[in-house]
Amino acid sequence: MIDKYNREIDYVRISVTDRCNLRCVYCMPKEGVTFLPHSAVMTCEEIVSIAECFGELGIRKIKLTGGEPLVRKDIIGLVGKLKQIKGIEKVTLTTNGIYLEEQLEALIKAGIDGINISLDTLDQNKFTELTGFDGLLKVRESITKALAYQNVPIKINCVPLRKFHDKDSLLALAALAKDTKLHVRFIEVMPLGYGKHMEGYSEQEIIDILRSSYRELEQYTKSLGNGPGKYYSIPGFQGKIGFISAVSHEFCSSCNRVRLTSAGILKTCLQYSGGTDIKAALREGSSKEEIKDMIKNAIDRKPESHVFTKDRPAFSETLEDKGMSQIGG
Ligand code: SAM
Ligand code: SF4
Repeated sequence: MIDKYNREIDYVRISVTDRCNLRCVYCMPKEGVTFLPHSAVMTCEEIVSIAECFGELGIRKIKLTGGEPLVRKDIIGLVGKLKQIKGIEKVTLTTNGIYLEEQLEALIKAGIDGINISLDTLDQNKFTELTGFDGLLKVRESITKALAYQNVPIKINCVPLRKFHDKDSLLALAALAKDTKLHVRFIEVMPLGYGKHMEGYSEQEIIDILRSSYRELEQYTKSLGNGPGKYYSIPGFQGKIGFISAVSHEFCSSCNRVRLTSAGILKTCLQYSGGTDIKAALREGSSKEEIKDMIKNAIDRKPESHVFTKDRPAFSETLEDKGMSQIGG
């Protein structure tokens, strides 16, 4: 599908739950948020029906997200069913890694094409403070196990925050890409949900830190993955270092994605409130053709860009006030 700004939309991030076993400071408060009742969350069959419509419309890649997708009991079956859909070439997943080790083999058998693991720090105390759970060792075990499956690319996602990171801790995270084929990506904290109150590092600051130790850092020009990540290579490193810098390097002009929240709302830009209630239409008995028309109309109205760096109060009425776990980050 081509939108009115001539962007090809071929990627959907589907949130399968708004629940999570962690409480990352930039995503969810310690006490949690009011979760959707189970009846309001899309069933596996509903996700598959909507994904079939996406496949027919030209979506080629699906990323499962949340909340934490691996808290959902039917996640393995869902991956298997999505992989069968005509037109869908890749089904990947982003997870906090706590339950990954125990589900990894089943995910691989179901055909998962790639896994992103969120890991913000290698310091056990900081991990506990940042996520509300003493789970660093679990995540590291999951990473080690995942690396054994050489055909499934593994990326580490880190949101670098002033409160939790210094130069050495950022270098230590980057060094994960040295001895193993892990790609380590730094994601600029976005002013969404609890991230609005966080001060992060910019891409340039991290590049400067990396260059202080690795002068040979150089941009990698080939593409890796589905999205706007920009990658660098360092001689001697097996993996690449990536940046997703929605704030300092707006990439909206090449945005290729839409999002489906766990409540079945299609959102064409994560910063704006509202969306198109696909699940309601499905439950009211709309036909596949009607659902496809709804998706096409929504994509036709996809905004040109976010307003992260603009005078946000001026746009406040239209902006999303939910956190990433509710939107489906
Ligand atoms: N629980 C899974 C995980 O952590 O990978 C999937 C959902 S989580 C919302 C997806 C990604 O969004 C994580 O990598 C997380 O670090 C990132 N994220 C959450 N809030 C963010 C924010 N305000 N700015 C930038 N990234 C954020
Ligand atoms: Fe959970 Fe992921 Fe949000 Fe952390 S970033 S609280 S793991 S949904």
